[in-house]
Amino acid sequence: MLIGIDLGTTNSLAACYRDGKAELIPNRLGKFLTPSVVAVDENGLLLVGEPAKEYAILHPLDAAKVFKRSMGTDRVYTLGLQKMRAEELSGVVLRSLKEDAEEYLGCPVDEAIISVPAYFNEFQRKATQQAGEIAGLKVLRIINEPTAAALAYGIGDGDRDERCLVFDLGGGTFDVSILEFYKSIVEVHAVAGDNFLGGEDFTSVLAELFLKKHVIAPESLDIKTMNRVMKAAEQCKCRFADAHESTMSVTVDDTLLESTITLDEYEFACQTLLGRIRKVLERSIRDANLKLNEIDRIVLVGGATRLPIVRKFVIKLFGRFPGTLDPDTAVAVGAALQCGIKTRDKEIREIVLTDVCPFTLGTEISMSNGVFEESDHYLPIIERNTVIPVSKTETVYTAYDKQTRVRVKILQGESRIASNNLSLGEIIVPVPEGPKGQEAVDITYTYDVNSLLEVIVKVLSTGVSRKVVVQGGKQKLSDEEVQERFEKLNYLKQNPRDDEENRLLLLRGERLYEESTSRDRQVIDESLMQFEQVLKSRGRAEIERARKRLSEILDKIEEY
Ligand code: AMP
Repeated sequence: MLIGIDLGTTNSLAACYRDGKAELIPNRLGKFLTPSVVAVDENGLLLVGEPAKEYAILHPLDAAKVFKRSMGTDRVYTLGLQKMRAEELSGVVLRSLKEDAEEYLGCPVDEAIISVPAYFNEFQRKATQQAGEIAGLKVLRIINEPTAAALAYGIGDGDRDERCLVFDLGGGTFDVSILEFYKSIVEVHAVAGDNFLGGEDFTSVLAELFLKKHVIAPESLDIKTMNRVMKAAEQCKCRFADAHESTMSVTVDDTLLESTITLDEYEFACQTLLGRIRKVLERSIRDANLKLNEIDRIVLVGGATRLPIVRKFVIKLFGRFPGTLDPDTAVAVGAALQCGIKTRDKEIREIVLTDVCPFTLGTEISMSNGVFEESDHYLPIIERNTVIPVSKTETVYTAYDKQTRVRVKILQGESRIASNNLSLGEIIVPVPEGPKGQEAVDITYTYDVNSLLEVIVKVLSTGVSRKVVVQGGKQKLSDEEVQERFEKLNYLKQNPRDDEENRLLLLRGERLYEESTSRDRQVIDESLMQFEQVLKSRGRAEIERARKRLSEILDKIEEY
């Protein structure tokens, strides 16, 4: 059986094509979304999804999240005694989805179509395919997320040429893609985005607003209290989906603080974030050589597009209403529709814009903040979406007196903060000693159609130069390595499927215990002990009743 999978940064989900339509597949906990989180617990047991996410709160060092960003790199995550690459971690998530699908559909699932961001390069696509193989899935196709979302909206069904802008605002990233559908051909015209802008930023604005109302400086709060504030802000934010005002309450230093925040007030506080969104939108439209009114359809994807502030902003900017599908599941539904198309032996042909550099490439510099030289600033050299092949040179100067070497870091990414971007390598050149700013160094980046980046660093006064060639994903796994990892995953002990709900509840109890104080702690402790007792000795029905009881107790404590 073939399934479609949205392998997301925050959450993943699977869907299939049955009886002429796409159908979402629930996981073992009965939910559609499985958090893309993997952990290894104190007994070496592998946790995936919701239990891993819960475990990560108290044991962040033994859990891995947002590993999608490291697909196709040689970054290694250490979880307990396990060392894993992003492909393997994704493989763990995919295997969990595969098992859930098998349980739900009652048949073996061995093939998949997996979605990836439009800006993923060949190596990241290959890494995604390998993640599928590690999970025991044959990946028949990799589909672009915006294309999948557009398919879910029925775009491209007719004979008309349609231009569509896919606006994807997730928890931590914002991506815009402009696609053109013509018959069964999809052309990706432009991709733009901000890797550090998402729903979490809207939560932070609300948290700040709340603290300001209560005249509390965020720095004065300890991490746990701040976590509680953020959690309350997250809940308050989601309530705006169908209300004009929302009340937020948090206990700080044993005092219950409460504020009602109106949507207008919140919207006003979000202007900076909306401005950043506008910039990315304008850039993508400019890159696609289009005008706003030449976009036929707007498709919203990602949980944060549920925020009325974001919707209103889009409606105002484009002067039309976006579609109203569930933004969390549109990509998976699209991937499932693609499964349907595939089994009918038809195919949607995607033309990915390959003649642009999908990321900004740059280096780190220091800049004066008026008082002293501050390092960790990003100097973009080749901007994202620049048509390739391209060659650009920037000149930098020595940053301090008596400097003898210049270290040029080769970075890829969009963050203003250099260390937030991906490091591709570095070049060190010697420079003659002298006062700050005396020596000039030319940095030339050349990016060719095979995604090869050549960097030449030249010291102007001495003519000394050094060169490196960076190949986007030379750390690709070999077929044997994929097989090895597939086997390794098979012998790694996993938390038993039917115990998942109990495990999740116990982990949640442990977290709440840490977050609570005296009276609640006692209640949690006793309730957890009782539940553990029931788990050890009682039958299924009794366990289910005890689980419900414990869940209600924890809900009550968490609500407060
Ligand atoms: P995603 O990465 O697509 O799963 O999106 C996650 C983001 O969507 C998080 O920042 C959530 O806070 C946000 N989100 C989910 N539901 C809502 C809602 N009803 N209103 C506002 N934001 C939401």
